[in-house]
This record gives sequence, structure tokens and C-alpha cells, in this order.
Amino acid sequence: MSSDEHIAEGVRLSERAEAIDDEVFRIALGLPPGVISLTAGEPDFPTSDFVREAAIQAIREEKTHYTNPAGIMPLREEISNKLKRENSVAYSPGEIIVAPGSASAIWLMMYALADPGDEVLIPDPAWFHYSVLARLAGMTPVRIRLDSDTGFRLDGEELEKKVSKRSRMLILNTPSNPTGKVLTRSELEEISGVAERQDLKIISDEIYEKIVYPPHKHVSIASLSGMKERTILINGMSKGYAMTGWRIGYAASSTELTSKMTSLLGYSLVCASSISQYAAVEALRNPESLIYAEKMVNAWSRRREIVMKHVGSNTDVLSAIEPQGTFYGWLDISGSGMTGNEVSEGLLRERNVAVFPGSLFGEEGAAHVRVSFATSDDVVEKGMEGLCEFLHEHKRVR
Ligand code: PMP
Repeated sequence: MSSDEHIAEGVRLSERAEAIDDEVFRIALGLPPGVISLTAGEPDFPTSDFVREAAIQAIREEKTHYTNPAGIMPLREEISNKLKRENSVAYSPGEIIVAPGSASAIWLMMYALADPGDEVLIPDPAWFHYSVLARLAGMTPVRIRLDSDTGFRLDGEELEKKVSKRSRMLILNTPSNPTGKVLTRSELEEISGVAERQDLKIISDEIYEKIVYPPHKHVSIASLSGMKERTILINGMSKGYAMTGWRIGYAASSTELTSKMTSLLGYSLVCASSISQYAAVEALRNPESLIYAEKMVNAWSRRREIVMKHVGSNTDVLSAIEPQGTFYGWLDISGSGMTGNEVSEGLLRERNVAVFPGSLFGEEGAAHVRVSFATSDDVVEKGMEGLCEFLHEHKRVR
């Protein structure tokens, strides 16, 4: 659209806003009612009763005012305890900032650390927000290709080849949205070696850490020797505690960075919801949360099997590596001869099934679709059936 057309419509958008792709929200918000949706990026379970009770209690006690932009001290203390207990890394409360969701914490971190024109290394495929947030922070995204032949591990050599004088940081996301890959300790060590040699910061997005299928295990890169200083550890309550709408995320780094972030957050987002912060304290404190997460993961594990069953019986049109974590299947549909965009559009139109086209996650995703199995067994079954039938019906003979 030209800027003249915008003036004609009465809205003149900035070039920055113009450059942002609206595709994700066009798909997600435009889904017709009754659609069989495999697009959800959130747990299909309610927030635990005890967490909801803690929020109601906070309202009754009138804990309903602005908080310190960095978050209330009891929450920062609970996060500090959690990081020690579960991730074997020692961050003091002064090194932790609470944000209204981890996405905003990532954005502010990029803003605090990079100058316009600096480069951020982002795997391809990766969650679509990273490159958009990087551009909003004035940075240039540089993508590093992940290969299904190596199980989507981030290869140290490939990474090092992409480093330039302007490279400032690397985004790591383990377990990964969309591939479901959980990076192993030795893979993280290889990446750490490159980060040290090339003096890169690492933004380690660990939001799916609780959603890991045995025998795979989540390891935080911050817990490796010498890496805490290079890492900005990002996590939050959304996925592992079924608290997406409460908007609580956090970033753990240094006191210096946390203090600058406190001003940036204070000016822009002001603070995370006070009520949600008190609820998050309870979620982190109550050992029942771990049992609840286990219950959700067991259900997703069953649905992961449903997805993989369909992949296994339709190998002419579908292939996928079994996800090691997250609730996403990253399905290669190149056997059908169609692109992910053609499949997601046609599937919705003809079968009423919604999936995300892989191209949203990077160029490497052109012949993929992402399915979310954070929905009922029945919906996963119906959605996968619809997908397989659609692929067979429209398969192009090459
Ligand atoms: N990181 C990844 C990889 C995600 O997939 C998401 C949500 N889809 C987030 C971060 C954002 O989570 P939050 O709700 O904490 O902003």
C-alpha cells in the first residue's frame, strides 16, 4: 500500500509500523467460529484453583496499585528460589525483573542492549516474534538455518559463519517453538564456546521448560560454567502454569542491566499487573504447581502420539521429527508438492481446519506447517485427519 492510500484512508502509518507483517494476527484473529483449530499457543487447561484464589485474595486485600516497575519483592524472591532449585543458577532478586509477559521482557532487553544496525542471530525456524521485536528495537535479524537432518540442533560452525562485527546477541529457545527440539547440555556447550569466542550475549527463552517429554531434559545455558554473565534468561508463567492471560514473564541478568530495564519498563509498560504478581507468587511457592504441570504434560504427550501416528501412516505427504518438548508439531509437507501457505489456506477453506504456515517462522519453514496439540484429543484427531485427507487430495505429482 502506498503512503497516499494511507492518507486517503485517513491513517498515515509510520514506516516502522508498515514494515510489520500482520499475517500472524490476521490468521489467528480471523478464524471463523466452529473451526477445528490447531493454532493455539497456550495450554488448554484452566489456571490452578490455588492461583486464582491467591488473586482473589490480593483483590480483597486491595493489592491493586502500581508496583515497583521491576516487580514486587516477594515475586522476585520466589523467582530467585525457583531458578536455584530448578535450573541450578543463582540470581539474586536484584538481578531479576518481572514484566507483563516474557515477550515484552525480550523486547526491552533487545532495546537495552543493542544500537540501531546491530545484528541479532536468530535460528530459522524460530518463533515469529523474535525478528519483529528485533526490528522494532532497530536491529537487523540474521537467520541461522536449522536442519531436520541434524534434528534441528543449532550447529556451532553454522552459527560462527553468521557472526559479523555487528553481531550483538543470539536468541536461543529451548524447548523450541516451532520444532520441539530440546537442546542437550553438550549442544549448549558448543554454542557457549562460540558465544565466548565471539563475545555474544545470549537471550535464552526458556518459556517451554516445563513441557519436555522424557527422557529429554531441559538445561539452562545460564547454568553452564561462565555463562551466567553472558545470558539473559527469559521465562514466565504462561505455559508451564497455564497462566497466559495473567501476563507475567521475567528476565534474569545482572543488577546493572536490571536497573536500566527497570527505568525502560517503568516508562513504557509501567509495571506488570499487581494482582497477577501476587498470583504468580503462589504459583511458584505451591508445590502443587509441579503436579499440575505433570498432568498437562501427560495429556500433551498423548496428543503428541496422535500427531505422530498420522505422520507415520502418511509418509508420502508428511514427515516430522517427534517433538522432544512444547505442544507443537513441525510438519514437513514437501511430499505433497504444496507450500505451507497453500496448505494452510486450502485446509481452512475446504476442511475447516486451521494450522499456521511454516513460512511465518522463517524461510526454512516454506514447506512446513505448525500444528498445536494443546487442544482436546478429539480436535487433534479430527484436525490431523483433515490435514492428511487434504494433502492426499491435492498432492501434486512431480
Ligand atoms: N517465547 C516463545 C517461544 C513463545 O512461543 C511465547 C508464546 N507463544 C512466548 C515466548 C511469550 O510468552 P508470554 O506469554 O510470556 O509473553
